[in-house]
Amino acid sequence: MGEPTWEVTDEPAGALAARLREGRTLLVSPHPDDVAYSCGGLLAAVGRPAHATLLTVFTRSAWALPKRLRRAGVRVISARRREEELRYCRLRGLADYRPLGFDDASLRGYDDVAEVSSSVEADGLRGAVEEAVSAAVRASGADTVLAPAAVGGHIDHLLVHGAVRGAVGNGALLLFYEDLPYAGQHDLGDVERTLRDERGLVPYAGVDVSGVVEDKVRGMYVYGSQTDDECVRETLWHARRTACPHVAAGRPPVAVGSAAEARAMGAGRPTCAVGGRAFAYAERVWAVAAPAEAR
Ligand SMILES: [Zn+2]
Repeated sequence: MGEPTWEVTDEPAGALAARLREGRTLLVSPHPDDVAYSCGGLLAAVGRPAHATLLTVFTRSAWALPKRLRRAGVRVISARRREEELRYCRLRGLADYRPLGFDDASLRGYDDVAEVSSSVEADGLRGAVEEAVSAAVRASGADTVLAPAAVGGHIDHLLVHGAVRGAVGNGALLLFYEDLPYAGQHDLGDVERTLRDERGLVPYAGVDVSGVVEDKVRGMYVYGSQTDDECVRETLWHARRTACPHVAAGRPPVAVGSAAEARAMGAGRPTCAVGGRAFAYAERVWAVAAPAEAR
């Protein structure tokens, strides 16, 4: 366990929101739902971006939360997820949806343990994912690329993280979101140490999403085939503790499980007794460390 080392400030977040509002943005999602969970607050804060593309890599799946849908099989599940993605694009004003059609870990023989403990080198899809992501990045003409930091080490997230890092050149700003709900399941100090030491990332911006948290949660529930209250709780817990590191020692707020509850908490804007800060919820993005900054 390590101590959290990053305190959120308003500074670069405003410029980032303006950049996403005015520029060309590529949002890279390993699975349908990852962007909504991990940086949906930032997108809600941006409003309608001038031109954003949602690129989702692993769009075929055998996994769904409702048992009846699970029994219906891969084709039905994958079609449902596509509908959810298109609804999310409409909700957030994203101009383009690009599904890459790869089989997710559930279809490639990974179980719950293997999918978060396997290395990308052994995965047979690695080369194909790199090629497809690379082509999609080029085609997007994006000036900002927002991709998973692969917090939690899910094999699909690691594959996408690696592919994006290999594909984005100096022409675009490459940023990484903290993968949720995974980040909410780990000690905050460990999350930060993994991102700094293993991924070679540095903090870029912490975004105050207190005013749009209800909207973010609404976006998460668009993915009805996968989102439950537990997932929302873990996501909001992480958003609370990253808004204020002094709550990190506390327990997840059990009351936060619905949009209404989230609104109530957001409206409360709890002020920290230690730091006195007024954020209730935050999302954070990271950048690749310059060689001199890498530790
Ligand atoms: Zn995912």
